Amino acid sequence: MLSYAEALKIMLSGGEAPATQTVSLDHALGHIAAKKITGTENIPPFNNSAMDGYAVKSESVQAASADSPAVLKVDGSTMAGDSPSVGGTGAWEIMTGAPVPDAYDAVIRIEDTNILETNNQKRPTKISVSAEGFPGKNIRKAGTDFCPGDLLIEQGTEITPNHIMALAALGQDNIPVTIPPKAALISTGKELVDDMDQTLQPGQIRNSNAPYLLQSLRSFGIDATNEGTIYDEPEKFEQKMEEILSKDVHIILSTGAVSMGRYDFIPDGLRAMGAEILFHKAAIRPGKPVLFARFPDGTCYFGLPGNPVASAVGLRFFAYPLIRKMRGQEPEKSLSAVLKNDFSKESLFRFFQKAHCKHNKEGRLTVEILPGQESFKIKPMLDQNCWAIVPEYGLSLNAGSMIDIYPLYQDFGARE
Ligand code: AMP
Ligand code: MG
Repeated sequence: MLSYAEALKIMLSGGEAPATQTVSLDHALGHIAAKKITGTENIPPFNNSAMDGYAVKSESVQAASADSPAVLKVDGSTMAGDSPSVGGTGAWEIMTGAPVPDAYDAVIRIEDTNILETNNQKRPTKISVSAEGFPGKNIRKAGTDFCPGDLLIEQGTEITPNHIMALAALGQDNIPVTIPPKAALISTGKELVDDMDQTLQPGQIRNSNAPYLLQSLRSFGIDATNEGTIYDEPEKFEQKMEEILSKDVHIILSTGAVSMGRYDFIPDGLRAMGAEILFHKAAIRPGKPVLFARFPDGTCYFGLPGNPVASAVGLRFFAYPLIRKMRGQEPEKSLSAVLKNDFSKESLFRFFQKAHCKHNKEGRLTVEILPGQESFKIKPMLDQNCWAIVPEYGLSLNAGSMIDIYPLYQDFGARE
């Protein structure tokens, strides 16, 4: 049977480079940079004061101290937002962020000065300075944060609020980003009930996959729509597909009807529509019946199995890698964690297990494979904060082994 690595290779080969667009800074968060973005300006753009105080010539206060303060006349004042002054010969009142006049090379903070005389507007005209100065003291030099040509964002990087701050500081408002793929979702199963207000009849269950998949796809930063449920009527499949294919959709995901049962109509339905099935079944658990196909127009199709956990694995380990590629991102990298419990499995498949990771007292990331791995069991997902990967080789792992994990969220693994 096809290995996970082989399935991934098939899915990720082919397909063009992602399309790109330009968005304003307001809309850039969460997008992927379509190319390397560099700075074009100096930040700070001019030498400015890091303190409220007085700009001075450093040699005039070189030996100043509390016991032997230097006395200077005050020649003028600059606040933040004023245009730069030339300055004078004594001291110059200055506020944080104001341009330091060229005549001065240091700033003495207000706490290290005393006003000796003021004019009739109560502005200081003479001060004493009780701290020494040296060239550059309390001055933020132009270009000491960013210089023209500095790398801001590497191609393929997801734009975060930190990038937004840098881009805003540099006045960059037209951000080249990739156009994320759009996804559509269908569910299959005569037993499914979509309407939450409906009371379950004997034999019925609620559709938990569609809300899960929809919100997960949106959390990946892509636009996804729920196109409804096919109640195991194969003749409705083609019609539904045609409806979806006429929309601007790049990925279709279905759940259920890809196993060996009498009502597992997806593979035949896809073939009848001219789609090429690139694989059906992979040596994984849960989710073995997973199917990947492509329609003649390039639309990708994931047939995920119906069991809730199998559909979650199909999304995270099949659809998500393709979504990353389509968004112009590098493949996701796993983390490594120390396995806390012994684990054994009954086949040489790759196992994706509901797991919980946290940092132990020594600060090492540890992972517990949770009880209740059956693919119909949703409750353990409430304790899950990562997927643990048990590789194909071997039928058991001992506690203390290092294994790969994929976190579900950013804030995982709090300390014990
Ligand atoms: P199937 O892959 O269609 O054979 O379904 C496998 C199992 O998953 C069956 O027990 C189904 O009832 C269940 N199942 C299928 N679709 C869903 C769904 N959307 N939500 C919850 N369970 C489902
Ligand atoms: Mg079914």
